[in-house]
Amino acid sequence: MSQTSPLPFLPFTKPTMDEATVSAVSDVLRSGWLTSNGPKVQAFEAQLSEYFGGRPVRTYNSGTCTMEIALRIAGIGPGDEVITTPNSWVATANVIIEVGATPVFADIDARTHNIDLDKVEAAITPRTKAIIPVHMTGLPCDMDKLYALAKKYKLRVVEDAAQAIGSTWKGKRIGAFGDFVSFSFQVNKNIMTAEGGCLVVNNAEEAKLAEKYRLQGVSRSGLDGIDVDVLGGKYNMTEISAAIGLGQLARLEEFNAKRLSLARHYFNSFGADFEAQYGAELPIADFEQSNWHMFHIVLPERFTRADFMQKMLDRQIGLGFHYAAIHLFSMYRARGFKEGMFPVAERVGRQIVTLPLFPLMNESDVERVVDAVKSILRG
Ligand SMILES: *Cc1c(COP(=O)(O)O)cnc(C)c1O
Repeated sequence: MSQTSPLPFLPFTKPTMDEATVSAVSDVLRSGWLTSNGPKVQAFEAQLSEYFGGRPVRTYNSGTCTMEIALRIAGIGPGDEVITTPNSWVATANVIIEVGATPVFADIDARTHNIDLDKVEAAITPRTKAIIPVHMTGLPCDMDKLYALAKKYKLRVVEDAAQAIGSTWKGKRIGAFGDFVSFSFQVNKNIMTAEGGCLVVNNAEEAKLAEKYRLQGVSRSGLDGIDVDVLGGKYNMTEISAAIGLGQLARLEEFNAKRLSLARHYFNSFGADFEAQYGAELPIADFEQSNWHMFHIVLPERFTRADFMQKMLDRQIGLGFHYAAIHLFSMYRARGFKEGMFPVAERVGRQIVTLPLFPLMNESDVERVVDAVKSILRG
């Protein structure tokens, strides 16, 4: 069946690009001003700030350095503990080690796949300085509970909202409230700049630091005044990326509306008895708050993921897996983490697959994926 399939390959994601954006990038290339805080970066930051309710926003070359910089702005370093989820892209935990602090994991909730805030509370010690929750697939964490906890224990929060642009909590946009909020514009995200990210901060003082950490710790004054008083890196966004970002941001609502309608179609196509019949788990059917960055299913234990992925590939359908449990990577095992510590993240990390979901898909693509999943699970 596989070799003779007339169907085109369906990847799990693909960016949408329009000619206007291609032209805007060409204009940047012709302008001679390619990087370092030019007009496109400034316009992109201004539009993002407006999008996030007027809060200060700075752009970067990734959604990883944004979190590292947030931790630096908060003064977090050696001797401090930061609590995060074991089920995320490894960046979320790596940044804690990068600043010299100690990562502490709290297991995830079996249904939302977001960090379990009761387990966060149980993991707090006198050394805990911050929490990095992830809004997994764009499904927001319980923000009331999260910020009540942060307030109670005087902790900073760095929201890893890499996947959550356009998601809301009780009608408020993720990023428009809270403490530090980090977004990624890596090519797979709901809007992208090829590579990139932005950080929402609380005030002008933090914004100043956010700029310094972005570029070698430099601050300038007058025509030739220059000083370096903190250790910064090289994390600035290029004009080329910002030109892409402006074109993408203009279409964010449209992209997310399309994702939502495809997600609805997944649920309709799987049908109400899918979980009971096939033993696989669907995501939470949130049609209000999620931006539907991804559509996950958790495979029953009788399937190994690699086999399942191969059978889908045989049908010309590419899947992702987001994510393997972080604490079981060698570098984390070397720090003392091991199997059995976070059983929910371990099971999800082993059995989760990401089905195709991106704005260029149509309903028949969804039906094709659902048919393939069902036929393999019946297998
Ligand atoms: C994409 C992503 C990141 C990292 O963003 P980059 O822009 O690739 O550095 C971090 N956390 C999560 C949850 C992500 O999805």
